[in-house]
Amino acid sequence: MFTYFKNLLLRDVNNPNESSGGAITLRICSLIIMAYLLFLSGVLVCLQSASLILCNIFFIALYGYLLWLTYCDMTKGAVLWFNLATIGFVCFNVIFIGWNSGIQHFLFMLILLNLIFTYVSKNAQLIVTALLCIIRLFLYFFCRAYKPRVHISGILDPVLQCITTIFIFALLFVCGTMLARDSQNMERKLISYNNELKQLANTDTLTKLWNRLHLMHYIEKKIREPYQFMSIAIGDIDFFKKINDTYGHECGDEVLRSLAKVFVEKMNGNGVVARWGGEEFIFVFENANGDEAFDKLVKLRDAVKDNVVIYNDLEIKVTMTFGLVEFDHDLNLDENISIADQRLYQGKSEGRDRIIY
Ligand code: GH3
Ligand code: MG
Ligand code: MG
Repeated sequence: MFTYFKNLLLRDVNNPNESSGGAITLRICSLIIMAYLLFLSGVLVCLQSASLILCNIFFIALYGYLLWLTYCDMTKGAVLWFNLATIGFVCFNVIFIGWNSGIQHFLFMLILLNLIFTYVSKNAQLIVTALLCIIRLFLYFFCRAYKPRVHISGILDPVLQCITTIFIFALLFVCGTMLARDSQNMERKLISYNNELKQLANTDTLTKLWNRLHLMHYIEKKIREPYQFMSIAIGDIDFFKKINDTYGHECGDEVLRSLAKVFVEKMNGNGVVARWGGEEFIFVFENANGDEAFDKLVKLRDAVKDNVVIYNDLEIKVTMTFGLVEFDHDLNLDENISIADQRLYQGKSEGRDRIIY
């Protein structure tokens, strides 16, 4: 039974543009106010004020109606009704029972509740807040000018004060925690979305390797570190155009994806690899001089040669040509890369499937 009511209370809204937090807060607040109005009606029974009792029963029904609206994906409408109902019952009761009842403090909860609904525009929130301020001041001066119709005395006065205070604090607690929960959720969502975006901006979509820009930033950061030495190689697939022309572009893509996996495996622990563009890749061997990088690159080149790409029952093998340079700190990054590039094209002109260092 308890779980059933809990699930009913926490049921999400179907509308993707509405936050479930808002609807849930509205439901909890409505129930709390309905309970308060029932209590108030009980107090009024003691005072035999039939018209005010009827009035409060009408407001209970109104909260019931807006509760129902939150289950019909009409939370926006429910917010409006909630504002109207709350202003209504506060005004009625303060005018009839008096300023001392403390019922006017329910208006503070309304300000907080309106802030929870992020789809209510900032201007609307400002207007409602100003309106609530005016209503409160109006009630104050009205109560100064006119005596309340219902006079609460004896034990009922402190009881009403205590219960009203407890209900208002409960409402403020609900609104405050929901507001904090919503903003924390939003912050968490934004952080993960930012990370996703960063990942997307740094990654080549086809091969899932780092892209050129990310690698450039990475190397620039690395070469600023003291005693950092490294070697850079640029590799280009041999006769790749033929693969596209013979088996189709999709097959070419599959070869790129397959080779990317080989690169990642072979560079693991040796450095990093990125897609330089088209069918060219760049390899950074960290803490490796030219000779050490050459040995590692030989292994990588052999792994490329041995790698079999399966595409539609076809078995495709490719070779690659590499230009390698040991990073020279007297030259800038572009000049170092340019040397690797020249060596790569030397390798192409000398017959391909080789490393020029
Ligand atoms: P070489 O041995 O001289 O490098 O010959 P090659 O055919 O590999 O060189 P070329 O530069 O003439 O051709 C590169 C081809 O790579 C041309 C282009 O269509 C293809 N290419 C570039 N990017 C992609 C891609 O993302 N997917 C596919 N399938 N092909 C690509
Ligand atoms: Mg090529
Ligand atoms: Mg090329």
